[in-house]
Amino acid sequence: MNATFKVWRGDANGGAFREYATEVSEGMVVLDAVHDIQRTQAPEAGKCGSCSAEVNGMPKLMCMTRLSELPVEKPITVEPMKAFPVIKDLITDVSWNFHVKKRIKPFKPRRPDAPDGTWRMQQADIDRVQEFRKCIECFLCQDVCHVLRDHRMHDQFIGPRFLIHVAALEMHPLDTENRIGELRNAQGIGYCNITKCCTKVCPENIQITDNGIIPLKERVVDDFYDPLGWFWRWLKRKQDRQS
Ligand code: SF4
Ligand code: SF4
Repeated sequence: MNATFKVWRGDANGGAFREYATEVSEGMVVLDAVHDIQRTQAPEAGKCGSCSAEVNGMPKLMCMTRLSELPVEKPITVEPMKAFPVIKDLITDVSWNFHVKKRIKPFKPRRPDAPDGTWRMQQADIDRVQEFRKCIECFLCQDVCHVLRDHRMHDQFIGPRFLIHVAALEMHPLDTENRIGELRNAQGIGYCNITKCCTKVCPENIQITDNGIIPLKERVVDDFYDPLGWFWRWLKRKQDRQS
C-alpha cells in the first residue's frame, strides 16, 4: 500500500512541508516510514552528529555506516562511545566537551580597518580556517583518541575536536588573542603524539592533525623555544591591537 507523507523540512529560519510517497505495510509506525523516506528519497546523513557510537569497536556515525562495509555474516556490535560516561543504552554524556569549549579564550578581533567599519582579509586566510568550521561536534575524534579513551586524561587534555577549535581561532586573520600558553600548560597539546586516529574517523574529512594540530604544535615550540620568533609575534599582536 502507498501513503503520502507531508514532512516539514527547514531550520530555525523557516521551512515548509515537502511531499513524499512511500510504500507502507501492516505493523509499520510513522518513524519506520520516515526512516524509509530518509533512506530512499532524502538522504541527508552526517549533518547533526547525534548518532555517534561504536560499530564493531570503531567510532562511527550510525547514519553513515553502510552495512555493505561490514561483515554481515558475523554479529555486528553496536555500543556507546567509550570516552564518555554512559547515560543509557547507546547514549553517552558528552557535556564535558561543552565545558571544555567554554574555557577556550574566545575570538578577539582587531579593530576594523575600513572606513565603513568592516575588515579586509585575504581569501586564502579565510579558506584556511573554513575547514575547521565544518565540524559537526559528533565527538568521534574525541572518542578514538587514546589520551581520552584509554588514559582518561580529560582534566589535562582538551582533545582533537578542541585543538582544531583553537586552531580555527589562532589562525583567523583578524584574531589578536594569544592561546599558546594554555595550549601547552593547561590544554595538553604535548600529549598528542600525532597518531592521526582522530583524522581517520572524522566524518567531515577535516585534516585534524596535518592542518590543525601540527601547526599548533609548531607555534608552541616557536613561542617557548625560539625567543626571536616569540618577540616577533608579540610585536605583531601588539600592532594589531593598536591598529
Ligand atoms: S593525533 Fe593526537 S589528538 Fe589525534 S587521536 Fe592521535 S593523540 Fe589524539
Ligand atoms: S572534528 Fe570531525 S570527528 Fe571531531 S567532532 Fe568535529 S566532525 Fe566530529
